[in-house]
Formats: sequence, C-alpha cells, structure tokens
Amino acid sequence: MNTTSLGMPAFPKAAREALNNRTLRGNLRHATHTIRAKRARAVAEVSDWAELREAGERIKDHTLRHLDGYLEQLEESVTAAGGTVHWAADATEANRIVTELVRATGESEVVKVKSMATQEIELNEALEAAGIHAYETDLAELIVQLGEDRPSHILVPAIHRNRSEIRDIFRTRMASWGRPAPEGLSDDPAELAEAARLHLREKFLRAKVGVSGANFMVAETGTLVVVESEGNGRMCLTLPETLISVVGIEKVVPTWRDLEVFLQLLPRSSTAERMNPYTSMWTGTTDGDGPRAFHLVLLDNGRTDTLADEVGRQALRCIRCSACLNVCPVYERAGGHAYGSVYPGPIGAVLSPQLRGTASEIDASLPYASSLCGACYEVCPVAIDIPEVLVHLRERVVEGGPAVRDGNRVVLKPAKGHAAERAAMRAAGWALARPGVLRTGQRLASRTRGFRPRTLPGPGRAWTATRDLPAVPAEPFRDWWLRTRGGKDGAR
Ligand code: SF4
Repeated sequence: MNTTSLGMPAFPKAAREALNNRTLRGNLRHATHTIRAKRARAVAEVSDWAELREAGERIKDHTLRHLDGYLEQLEESVTAAGGTVHWAADATEANRIVTELVRATGESEVVKVKSMATQEIELNEALEAAGIHAYETDLAELIVQLGEDRPSHILVPAIHRNRSEIRDIFRTRMASWGRPAPEGLSDDPAELAEAARLHLREKFLRAKVGVSGANFMVAETGTLVVVESEGNGRMCLTLPETLISVVGIEKVVPTWRDLEVFLQLLPRSSTAERMNPYTSMWTGTTDGDGPRAFHLVLLDNGRTDTLADEVGRQALRCIRCSACLNVCPVYERAGGHAYGSVYPGPIGAVLSPQLRGTASEIDASLPYASSLCGACYEVCPVAIDIPEVLVHLRERVVEGGPAVRDGNRVVLKPAKGHAAERAAMRAAGWALARPGVLRTGQRLASRTRGFRPRTLPGPGRAWTATRDLPAVPAEPFRDWWLRTRGGKDGAR
C-alpha cells in the first residue's frame, strides 16, 4: 500500500477515475448522506454547541501558541509515570525509532490501533521492510489492509466499499493473513463483524507489542486518550507487554478540563454519538496492569512549519472528526483516493500541502479541490476556516509557482494558466486605473457584443467548458447612468 504523493497526478486527473465509477459514487453518496444527517441530529441536541465549539477553538489556539511549553510538560509527566518519550522530526526518524523499539523486544509482529499518524509516516511499510508484520485491528482498516487498498476516509477508511465487496475480500484474503473466513460467509453485517472478530481475536491474544496513535495527550498528567467504537483499541492498548504510541505534537491539551470539551465535540461530530463506546486512557505504566513498557513517539513531520504560517496554522486545531468530509460536495463525488494522502477531503486539501509542501503535482493542486462553498467550516467543531486557508494556499501556489513534471523531476515554475491569470490581472489593474481607457473599452465591447465568442481560447477554454460566458450589456453602466441621471453625483 503506497500512500505517498510521489507520482500522484494532480487532483482533477486523479478524481476523473472516481467520477466515472458509478458504484463508488453510489457507496459514497449513501454513506456521507447518512452520517451527515445523524451528525446534524446529534449536534442539535446540545443547546450550547456554539459555546463548546468556541471553547474548542480557543483551547487549541492557546495550546498551539504555547506548544513548546506544553510538550515539555507532557514529556516530564509521561517520564514521571514510567513512560519513555522519543522525539521524531520526520517520518524517517519516527519509523526508525519504532522499528528499533520493536526489534528490541525480539518480536516480529505488532497489532495496531487505528491511527492517522502511523499511516501518515507509512509505518506499516517501514516495519514490513524490516521483517515485522503490522496487523490492523480496526474493522475498516482490516478491510483496507486485506484488500491491499488505500484508505479513503479519516473515520471510515473503507467507505468506498459496500457489503458484498467486503464479503469477497474476507472470503479471498483472510486465509493468507491468519484465520480464514467462515464457510458460506454472507454479506450480512453481523456475519461480517463476527468473521472479523474471530480473525482478530487470535492476533490480540498472541501479540506482545501494540502500536497506537492517540486522539489527545493531557500535558498535566501525561495521560494519552484513544476514543473508538469497536473495542479493538482497548485490546491493543491493554493486552501487549509493550505499547508504542506515535502521536502528532499538535494533539496535546493542557489539562483534563480542556479534554472535557473535546470529549463532547468529537463523538457527536464524527460518529454522531453522545459519547464514544470506548474511551481508553493510560498514564505511563502500572504494575500488574497493562503493558510493562510504554513509549511515546512525538511526531513533527511538517507541523512546526505549519505552525509558522499565521493563516494556515489553524489546520493544526483539527481533531480528525471527519465531519468536513461528510458534507463536502467535492469529496462526495471524487472520493478519498484522489487526494493522494491519508488526509482526504477539505481538511486534507489544507493539511497535506502544508505538511508536505507544494512541490508535487498533487499537493499543488489540492488547494483547488474545493468549490469554497463553506459547508466544511459550518460543521467543523473547532471552527477551522477551511475556505480561508484554501484561498491562502492558492496564493502560495501561484506566488511560489506550482509544481510541474520535467521528465522524472518535479520542479517549481509558474504554470501557463497561472502566468496568464497574472497577466490578465495586471491588464485589468492597468485599465481600472484609467477611466478613459475603461470607458472606451466598455463601449467597444458593447458595440461588438454580437461577435462575442461562446468559449474562450487558450487557458480560458477550461473555464468556459462548464460555464456560460457572461453576456455583454447593450449599453455600458456608465453610459446608462449618464443618460438616466444626467451626470449627477459626479459620475463620468
Ligand atoms: S477540519 Fe474540522 S471538521 Fe474536518 S476533520 Fe478536522 S476537526 Fe473535523
């Protein structure tokens, strides 16, 4: 499974395949509409949702402003509770640390809790290269892993699969990963869940090393928190002798009182539940209970650079609820794979180009993968103004020059369309600063309106392929004003 952006085409090209797949579009439409309706009902039950949302935004902003101090406090707390903290500047360093930690146990397999951070750094692939097998235990992640597929949603990585596709994957693939699917397995959800349960149980009972991420880390006590719906996370966090958690540095919150806000915002926004069925919390190690060794790998991997951007840093407030994906008209049609990242949808469009930079075709195209309708901002429980960040990143792409492929290399230079856009804006600025030129141009356009083309030539062709060119009025506004108002109010 390769989740890197290397070699991915730009978003419009990558999305075309999904747009032509009717089954995929049907699966996505059904799933996103169901989740978004449930979320709306769950949020409407809370009378102070707006205040909670504001509190979430403020706590995250405060924490990000003082991130260095809270991370040091977290390290002290985790260490005092018997854990070991490791700092990883990038994916390579994080993968090396985890691989060495697993090797030190003498084990050659690990069980995993669903984790975006470990997908981001492609930990499974790094472990596999070192001869260590990583088994995903979240049901949707299991489906993706067995199907040698890529995740397409933050919360429901196999959202693009329907029940019969999942049955076929279980029937054909489970045996090569462990316990085979039961004879005569149907596409009944209860039967599919039971097949997964039996398949995973032997892995839980055998595993000596567990690998997780975390939804939150509480600085004051060094406590890590994982919220989930299936209970697989609880098994991975408690049964193995060694637990390794890889967590992005932005996941820290200062106190338990702060955590209380997010434990209300997250479940209603993600699974439309009043609270998560399983909320696991652990603080270092405890004699006779749970793992004997606990390692926390704090991951930067582009987050410090993102923090330096005054507009873009708000993306670090994200609590990965996926509400923005479920309401996005672009995600609903294109699906998650077209985003070329483990972070798809609106949050992926603003997070990936910041974490990875805009040097690849896919990352330079992501800020344009939006209609700027603003639905993502409306539902975001921490009020990330995604449209604002998208426009900001578009500026960065145009100013810095988008990435283009030159043989085997990706180089930064202004693309034709953007150069033309810049030239058009310069010409417009010049004309708007000269009223006489503007008036002459408007009159000329009105008199020649019969010759107006239906489509624009050159780079403008793509714009008119799906839109009508606006009609030119028979009389320019300024002439109409002079004729009807007789030049009053200083109009000339
Ligand atoms: S950007 Fe907001 S809505 Fe989207 S996943 Fe993050 S927290 Fe949820």
